[in-house]
Amino acid sequence: MGLQTADAVVIGAGINGAATAYNLIKRGMKDVILLEKQLIASGGTGRSAAIIRQHYSRDELVRMVRRSVDVFTHFDDEVGGDCGFVNTGWAFLVPDYVSDGFSENLARGQRLGVDVREVSIAELKEIEPRVELSDVHRAAYEPGSGYADPRATTHAYVQRFVESGGRLIQLTSANGLALSDDGSRVEGVKTEDGDISAGVVVNAAGPWADRVAAWAGVELPLEVTREEEIIYDVAAVGGAPRLCFSDMAKAIYYRPDGETRMLAGRGYPKDYEIVEPDGYNQEVDVDFIEETTNRLKTRWPAFGSILAINSYTGLYDVTPDWHPVLGAVDGIEGFLMCAGFSGHGFKIGPSVGELMAEEIVDGRASSIEITRFNLRRFAEGKPIGAAYGTNRA
Ligand SMILES: Cc1cc2nc3c(=O)[nH]c(=O)nc-3n(C[C@H](O)[C@H](O)[C@H](O)COP(=O)(O)OP(=O)(O)OC[C@H]3O[C@@H](n4cnc5c(N)ncnc54)[C@H](O)[C@@H]3O)c2cc1C
Repeated sequence: MGLQTADAVVIGAGINGAATAYNLIKRGMKDVILLEKQLIASGGTGRSAAIIRQHYSRDELVRMVRRSVDVFTHFDDEVGGDCGFVNTGWAFLVPDYVSDGFSENLARGQRLGVDVREVSIAELKEIEPRVELSDVHRAAYEPGSGYADPRATTHAYVQRFVESGGRLIQLTSANGLALSDDGSRVEGVKTEDGDISAGVVVNAAGPWADRVAAWAGVELPLEVTREEEIIYDVAAVGGAPRLCFSDMAKAIYYRPDGETRMLAGRGYPKDYEIVEPDGYNQEVDVDFIEETTNRLKTRWPAFGSILAINSYTGLYDVTPDWHPVLGAVDGIEGFLMCAGFSGHGFKIGPSVGELMAEEIVDGRASSIEITRFNLRRFAEGKPIGAAYGTNRA
């Protein structure tokens, strides 16, 4: 590749890097490179359950997800192409010990314009009669939510980026950053295939983002956790669930995967397994399959005979407060963080891409206030709180 130049380099072609690169061009930046060490969506994005719910503990995140739902819903007009969004609706089932946080978040969503309401067990059973809900204390229902296809979404962003003049470089690892002599400015990215000089570098490297930050002497606190998912064939038991569920009462989530399949995984509260992102164990544990299937069968008594037809693992990139790190790095001009999405970063990707582009092109994100998400919050001892404790944003 030799020496290349660009106005900006985005490291990482997951949903957040892809949406950022696309929005940079859309906002008028001419020469943008999207650099990916593997293939598009090969990180957390390609393994995502991609459930899009609007229940959040921070106003900013509700605003981000609301804007993103607009984009998912009108994707062909907003971006172009098909993101695979299926507007099934979403239900949240909670046990009694989180009732206060639940009320708080419900009120927050309603205040910020989310179409969400508390539903009785009887109402929920009208929507999906097959679920057994005797252990559920309360339930919320969001008719406008659903799930999307994370790979198709990311591919569509990259496609539009390339069609608009952006350059995608795949199968090429960044392996360092070039800084000015006094370290106050980023001057480019070193890759295994030559250097790229650029005045703006965005770190959207997902589970590897702490390594990219370290090249500039910046500490991004990140733990990488191993997550597992299962796909079941449910054709013989009445077909896929009618809607997506986050089931805190059973600490699992499940959603339709087309008409005849169901995708499921374990959710909060649970133990997290911290791993190294390179060379982690990609084999799904037998215990996980048995335990998740048992929990599902108690929720779905009709699913006694369901067959698991696929399972796989993926990675979360988790910050100490389970919230992403967004925006400029203090003291290093041109270096920006877009990482640490802590297991909930697919659904906000469309908005994050816009906000990062505003931050870079206009000098400040304006459509939504993101100052609190800056990396400096950790040094300042101001982590972001959440209604259900730190690991449920
Ligand atoms: C099992 C699972 C279920 C999930 N379910 C949901 C859900 O239901 N809803 C939701 O909103 N979110 C969910 N998430 C989280 C969501 O998928 C992620 O937060 C989001 O996809 C992260 O996207 P990203 O672009 O930030 O990072 P990633 O998708 O991880 O992308 C980072 C990219 O950077 C590249 N890269 C890294 N280092 C370098 C380098 N040195 N040089 C070049 N390229 C590099 C990687 O190869 C990778 O492609 C889930 C995640 C998992 C794993």
